[in-house]
Amino acid sequence: METNAARLQESMEEMARIGATPGGGVHRLTLSDADREARDLFARWSKEAGLSVTVDEMGNMFARRQGTDESAPPVMTGSHLDSVPNGGRFDGALGVLAALEVVRSLNDAGTPTRHPIEIVNWTNEEGPRFPPSMLGSGVFAGAFQRDFAYSIQDATGKKFFDELERIGYLGDLPCRRRPIAAYVELHIEQGPALITEGKQIGVVEGIRGLTWLRITMKGERDHAGPTPMHMRRDALAGAARAISAVREIPGKLHPDLVATVGEVNVSPNAINVIPGQVTFSVDIRHEDESILKRAEELVLQAAKDAAGWEGLDMEVDRIGGSSPMPFDAWITATIDDACMKEGCSSLRMWSAAGHDARYAADLCPTAMIFTPSVGGKSHAEDELTTWEDVFMGCRILGRTILSLAQQS
Ligand SMILES: [Zn+2]
Repeated sequence: METNAARLQESMEEMARIGATPGGGVHRLTLSDADREARDLFARWSKEAGLSVTVDEMGNMFARRQGTDESAPPVMTGSHLDSVPNGGRFDGALGVLAALEVVRSLNDAGTPTRHPIEIVNWTNEEGPRFPPSMLGSGVFAGAFQRDFAYSIQDATGKKFFDELERIGYLGDLPCRRRPIAAYVELHIEQGPALITEGKQIGVVEGIRGLTWLRITMKGERDHAGPTPMHMRRDALAGAARAISAVREIPGKLHPDLVATVGEVNVSPNAINVIPGQVTFSVDIRHEDESILKRAEELVLQAAKDAAGWEGLDMEVDRIGGSSPMPFDAWITATIDDACMKEGCSSLRMWSAAGHDARYAADLCPTAMIFTPSVGGKSHAEDELTTWEDVFMGCRILGRTILSLAQQS
């Protein structure tokens, strides 16, 4: 199948003008005026391509191309048009607009498919304005209640529901699971693996699991001058030992394991006071549940040792997480096959970032296609995927969708 590189580039560039920032990125927060404009443009293009556009009660948009067998469930593809504050122009938009290019190309060639093809624009993939992220796909898959989503407020007190209504994207289609034949999402990698390995396409085998802990160490607040060293129970000294240990754990356990302490709260955080209490976060990610569990045990043991050494009390909250989500072997094999036919290099890999595909994988056979991120950068204005890689990603998506949509 032939896709039109120039048309895809033009569409990407036109979309990037909505919410454009001086630094070359986009600022399209969920349910903002810029988000509405992006949605309007996607809807107009979809209708011009002969697709029927529906919107559900979470604002998720579905642009559908009829199949020859209307009893067959759709093959779904797409991503998101919202962005983080001052984000990049490829994150999300690539998956939606490459899917549109695939459908436009099928139209040009007059190629029917057995399954309908639906392009989805998920609401609130990113989440900084209305946390948590992946809210639209999460409600669709049943991971969150619709009314919970409606009640979420942004930092200025505006409610998700009110903003959804205000921008005109409160649809009447129920947001709930329905039969889908397969889901494929094209996305930028957002990490350095493809660039480092010199490969053009990432065949994503799953989304890594994630464990979030919050550890509190309690010592004794006292004067930094008169208190002799041997009498201290310094919560920060204990926490610092634990944090150093967390940094060492991945190196001992597995090369693909990552562990991060990104947040520390010290009380009272004053120069002449021995810290009485410290709370810090731990973020651990890996694709193997057993390694994730082992890493958590090692973190807790290290924290316990550090607390014991300083005579501290310790509390642990498991504040969140998700288990690893392996993708479907049939879909990844279909993507491999597309890479072979296009003669492009590819790498099997796991995603360390979350995507709507994680929730889609609860519903139907799912996988993702990654394109290289220059410098491994994303969620930044200078996020970049070369046009050559964008076009290859679109061709691989096209071959994959066509193959899935013709399955009996
Ligand atoms: Zn994204």
